[in-house]
Amino acid sequence: MMPDRKSSLSSTLFDVVVIGAGVVGCAMARRFTLEGARVALVEKACDILDGASKANSAILHTGFDAPVGSIELDCIRKGAEEYRQIHQDMRLPLDAAGAYVVAWNDVEVARLDTLLEQAHRNGISNATLVGQTVLRDNEPHLSDRALAAISVPGEALIDPWSAPYAYLKQALQNGAEVFLKCEVTGGGFAGGEWQLETSRGVLNCRQVINCAGLYGDYVDQAVLGLSDFLITPRKGQFLIFDKAAASLLQAIILPVPTARTKGVVVCRTIFGNLLVGPTADEQQSRDEASTDTASLEGLMQAAIRIIPTLADMPITATYAGLRPATEQKEYRIIPRPDSNWITVGGIRSTGLSAALGIAQHVFAQYRDWGAAHEPLPDPRVPQANILAEQSARAWREGGQGDMICHCELVREAEIRQALTGPLAARSLAGLKRQTRVTMGRCQGFYCSARLTELTDGHFDIPLAKDIKHD
Ligand SMILES: Cc1cc2nc3c(=O)[nH]c(=O)nc-3n(C[C@H](O)[C@H](O)[C@H](O)COP(=O)(O)OP(=O)(O)OC[C@H]3O[C@@H](n4cnc5c(N)ncnc54)[C@H](O)[C@@H]3O)c2cc1C
Repeated sequence: MMPDRKSSLSSTLFDVVVIGAGVVGCAMARRFTLEGARVALVEKACDILDGASKANSAILHTGFDAPVGSIELDCIRKGAEEYRQIHQDMRLPLDAAGAYVVAWNDVEVARLDTLLEQAHRNGISNATLVGQTVLRDNEPHLSDRALAAISVPGEALIDPWSAPYAYLKQALQNGAEVFLKCEVTGGGFAGGEWQLETSRGVLNCRQVINCAGLYGDYVDQAVLGLSDFLITPRKGQFLIFDKAAASLLQAIILPVPTARTKGVVVCRTIFGNLLVGPTADEQQSRDEASTDTASLEGLMQAAIRIIPTLADMPITATYAGLRPATEQKEYRIIPRPDSNWITVGGIRSTGLSAALGIAQHVFAQYRDWGAAHEPLPDPRVPQANILAEQSARAWREGGQGDMICHCELVREAEIRQALTGPLAARSLAGLKRQTRVTMGRCQGFYCSARLTELTDGHFDIPLAKDIKHD
């Protein structure tokens, strides 16, 4: 049954509604807006990036180990290339660390040739084999158990949150609309138009793009009455070592990947820490992303095996994320031309790298169906918050008010700014992603009283209640 038009959330007939403000949905909203479409993005949480995109390793992959000829490979390559084109204009960080895929035993050494061949077939022509001596010269803190490696100079580190925020800000500055706390629950399609039912009312549009991540199959089922795949979340837990540990490594240290996972990575973060993780464990819950002692101890042992000095380094934080894995490794990008619907599901473990490429891929599909828009001639380009450790951070400038977070050097003006505008933080988690407040050594111990005052009236759950559980 078609929903009642009276309960409309907007009087606009949108060209496209994107469901889900993860990194993929944000990139999608940007691409379609830049191409001239009237876009709305709907997100069920109060802040964006509340699903799979809230926690990842933040590596901008090259696709060296992606399946040859896959959509995933194509999207990673296009996405990483577009990121490199736009990052300076948007002030998005890029740490061109490069990676070593390290073999730790003879079986893995024997697999390096095949992996190198795959990298070359995937277009990563500067990937090379390196021996133990080169590895030790370049990474002196690496365990001497490292036998050989493939060098992949194009692998890089980025900020997992400022990028999607900037994508969505660009969409909004150029005419898109965002509806938060707005869950898509159903809908009807007739006469070439969708009436999407949401928790805040009905949205009308011509085209729907389902980017609901961990709930992609649910949304297909709820609105279309069918789904071609089942999401089984794959949890990944991480250890974050103190900033003192970051100097122990130059490159990203990757294991030889398996068919199921890329394995445990050790790398610096753009924020100046050292990250170890993720694990890979399937679970049924799509929301529960806690850490557990056994997994963290396992990661600690893995960390010490890779860099023995880490045994003496303090840990700042632990966290976990959920990958939206399906029955297949390949992305589940399913065009449904008869119902003006495109499902963008199963963007499992490379979505941060591939998001801009996925958006290009999906827009090309939509254009092939005959949609005609004029690309914006001179789109506005937003400036991302500068949070990378090596960049000129705002705290150095005058007129930024008190220093609130002394660990991550966040001043009052940055917090106040993050609490305003269409993407204003509505939770501690959202504020952290926009400013890094409470993410340093003390984990909010010293700044939470002042933060409680500053955020009073802004959060759905007052900070005093949230901080204990976050
Ligand atoms: C441990 C781990 C490590 C990773 N490392 C990397 C890496 O180093 N590099 C890399 O490129 N990728 C990495 N990834 C992968 C990357 O994080 C994911 O591919 C990406 O976040 C998927 O984004 P998404 O937008 O598809 O989904 P999501 O982020 O889950 O976004 C979907 C959104 O839809 C919303 N939603 C759901 N249902 C509804 C509804 N009914 N109505 C409205 N909104 C709805 C959700 O609230 C959510 O915000 C990693 C992932 C994990 C978990």
